[in-house]
Amino acid sequence: MAAVQLSELTQSLSYLKPSDVARVEEAYRFSDTAHHGQKRMSGEPYISHPLAVAEILAHWQLDSQAVIAALLHDVMEDTEVSKAEISERFGRPVAELVDGVSKLDRLEFQSQAEAEAENFRKMLLAMARDVRVMLIKLADRLHNMRTLDAVSAEQRRRVARETREIYAPIANRLGLDSLYRELQELSFRHLYAMRYRVLAKAVRVARGNRREVVNKILEAIRERLPGAGIEATVSGREKHIYSIYKKMSEKHLSFSQVLDIYGIRVLVKDIPACYLTLGVLHGLYKPVPGKFKDYIAIPKVNGYQSLHTTLIGPYGTPVEVQIRTQAMHRIAETGVASHWLYKSTEAELSELQSRTHQWLQSLLDIQNASGDAAEFLEHIKVDLFPDEVYVFTPKGKILALTRGATPVDFAYAVHSDVGNRCISAKINYELVPLRTELKNGDRVEIITAPHAHANPAWLAYVKTARARSQIRHFLKTMQVDESQALGERLLNQALRALDSNVAAIQPEQWERLVRETSARSRQDVLADIGLGKRLAAIVARKLLTLSDHAGESKASGSIVIRGSEGMAVQFAQCCRPIPGDPIIGFIKKGQGLVIHTHDCPVARKSRGDSEKWIDVQWSPDTDRLFDVSIRVTVLDQRGVLAKVAAAIADSGCNIANISVDEDRGVYATNHFTLQVGSRLHLSKVMRSLRRIPEVVRLARIKSSENSR
Ligand code: MN
Repeated sequence: MAAVQLSELTQSLSYLKPSDVARVEEAYRFSDTAHHGQKRMSGEPYISHPLAVAEILAHWQLDSQAVIAALLHDVMEDTEVSKAEISERFGRPVAELVDGVSKLDRLEFQSQAEAEAENFRKMLLAMARDVRVMLIKLADRLHNMRTLDAVSAEQRRRVARETREIYAPIANRLGLDSLYRELQELSFRHLYAMRYRVLAKAVRVARGNRREVVNKILEAIRERLPGAGIEATVSGREKHIYSIYKKMSEKHLSFSQVLDIYGIRVLVKDIPACYLTLGVLHGLYKPVPGKFKDYIAIPKVNGYQSLHTTLIGPYGTPVEVQIRTQAMHRIAETGVASHWLYKSTEAELSELQSRTHQWLQSLLDIQNASGDAAEFLEHIKVDLFPDEVYVFTPKGKILALTRGATPVDFAYAVHSDVGNRCISAKINYELVPLRTELKNGDRVEIITAPHAHANPAWLAYVKTARARSQIRHFLKTMQVDESQALGERLLNQALRALDSNVAAIQPEQWERLVRETSARSRQDVLADIGLGKRLAAIVARKLLTLSDHAGESKASGSIVIRGSEGMAVQFAQCCRPIPGDPIIGFIKKGQGLVIHTHDCPVARKSRGDSEKWIDVQWSPDTDRLFDVSIRVTVLDQRGVLAKVAAAIADSGCNIANISVDEDRGVYATNHFTLQVGSRLHLSKVMRSLRRIPEVVRLARIKSSENSR
């Protein structure tokens, strides 16, 4: 194939303004210099490739930005030129297009699985963002396929397979019918060279035999149509070897049985003329029954429209005829704006697809109405898959997730165990926070630990329904386990008060209790106690009466709080108890045990309801930090706050929150929420704060009413 010359490109750009053509020429010179000295595998200078790609885009009548970007599409990957430099010389939109194409070039399709191919296509489309990026990529691929003979056999097979599985279907879905067919044909030729050669030869021979007949038919049609008042362009059309091959293999036919290897296309000006033409042709030659297809009334899913019929010409030679309007033909040739739907084999059209469909339909309308390429392309700069993001697993599998998804969503998409045990994540080999938003093409790796578990905080940022429900499910199971453990301790305490204990309760007693209380199981009863749905004292008494020798003693025992009980034990926000404070527990229905300080005013109000209050005490070895509020009044001088904060930090204490009073005079009052291990720890902090000369008053705040 002879290399395209700049002058040819310039000629094909006659639809552009002269100033735009001048910019294209400038881009050519820039690219030529950048690629200087590089050669293609064929031995031609490298610039012949971008020039040919630009020529293909010119044939589709794309805007000057796209044509310029086509000329520059390989400079970022193959030369020293940077994106910034392109942006400076040719503007940001061109730089974005070139960058977009370069990003696509870096992705490689490896998997053999059909489902993977579909996801890879979607990933490419989603990454392209601007349809023009995909069009440049497709033109690039078309030229590479046209010149594939120059590369090694192995490379040829890889590129041909990728074209067949990825790029040809994308062209089809974009409605670029003739591109789709050419890519298919070229892939077939390189993947099955032998079959292609044999078939091509057979077709050549058959066409030679029938040429005369077909010419006769063409003549007859050209003569007849004007008589019926139809203005038409009639042309002969050679069918692709691949479509003949496909027909043979799908319908199990031999070559001699595939009759319509020659086709005729009739282009007319409007839809009524299409049907009129059909009538005239059916009057001229007999149609083959069952071969007529009306793709005008019912377009193909990618937007293709035409009438197809097969006529029996002289000597019984069948000829397929396509009848369509000029507009339909243009869409079939270069119809980026055609509908975008999956083939009918994909049974259901999701909401996303139908919205994309509507969007493309509206593009089609814009194009029809205005015919203005620039405005049309303005509208194409839209995200193609606004709701999805496509990422790689470490093994190269592709996952489709909701847009905005995080590594946690990814982890749950892989497996619920991976989600529940996830502790950190790497994106493109770098550690990132778990809430990081994933981007198209990211490679995501999840790091797990055997004893890690789902964190309720994740619910604030996960995006997928799957992750959300799995986290909820996990937390719920955790909560039941914790509630049961607490329930058992509460029951034991109540039993001890009655001179018994859980271990002394016989299985029969439990069985009777479960029956009488209509609970499902013993675990259920315990969880109910832990969650405050049943009272331990009542259950204890009941259990003992069921054993025939109920105790009556009131000996006390209190339940021990470690602080690590999880959601079954909560610490009241009104008084914020810390280890060392005298405490009391309140059973709150459905929420478990709430711990207050003895002197909490909120707790004091409901003390009358004595059944719900139980004795609790701190375990000597609590191992977590507790929030506590303090108020620090200081002389309002520069740097005081820093001194206070430093003293707090020096005492081995975290500051969870600081708020400063708005109206300040000589003194300023600051509220701190600190995290301390115990009362002892707190008093150590207070002591060091008192040593600061500017601190005039210091107090712990126990009730929420006083803490602003
Ligand atoms: Mn290229």
